[in-house]
Amino acid sequence: MNIIAAKALPAELPPQHRPGPSPLPMAEPDRDCPLCPRLVDFREECRARHVDWWNAPVPNFGDPNAWLAIAGLAPGMNGANRTGRPFTGDHAGHLLYATLHKFGLAEGDYLERADDSLRLNGAIIINSVKCLPPQNKPTPQEVKTCRPFLQQGLSSLPNLKLVVALGQIAHQSAVKALGGKLPKYRFAHNAMHRLPSGMILIDSYHCSRYNQNTGRLTAEMFEAVFEQAMTLRD
Ligand code: SF4
Repeated sequence: MNIIAAKALPAELPPQHRPGPSPLPMAEPDRDCPLCPRLVDFREECRARHVDWWNAPVPNFGDPNAWLAIAGLAPGMNGANRTGRPFTGDHAGHLLYATLHKFGLAEGDYLERADDSLRLNGAIIINSVKCLPPQNKPTPQEVKTCRPFLQQGLSSLPNLKLVVALGQIAHQSAVKALGGKLPKYRFAHNAMHRLPSGMILIDSYHCSRYNQNTGRLTAEMFEAVFEQAMTLRD
């Protein structure tokens, strides 16, 4: 694992596309991580097209003393891949950050840019795949290749009690990162799993625009996941 070095950031990046320092620098890949060839090619295409976008592995965001980790899927093209911060700048972030605010897990203003005043308290967001995949679909091999970064992120949190996984792919990767075996732990919205290590995992449908527009995930359903998390913490 390498620290994302500030000196490696391109000069063209405006403040709204420059995330703050990672809360877990020891669990971040290099800005030019070469491990997934397809994603590297796509990253280079994006860099050529949008010189002022982040276009790199998206660092974790939140509280290094978090008790709750949210395992996302991967950066979205116009969201985290552009701004450099998970769930920032696309539709999914509105519901996620509104919900975290509601449960006291976030403070400050979410303005869809990396240099706003949003901060997380007791929570952290770690994506299962750190680079932008074409069509938002990482391959199973890419999920596997990036898993050590998820694993390292989760194991670097001294107060971690609970993981919320957003979507089936994040669920499967989180189970494996936490030492569980599939298919014993099956994905279902708001299902709670206790892993062999004692860690608790709760599943949620991903808060993507598609899931919200089709009604698969409502704000009430999403809040129920965090309500359960708060109850289990206490
Ligand atoms: S997805 Fe993860 S492992 Fe693959 S290139 Fe990006 S940072 Fe590296």
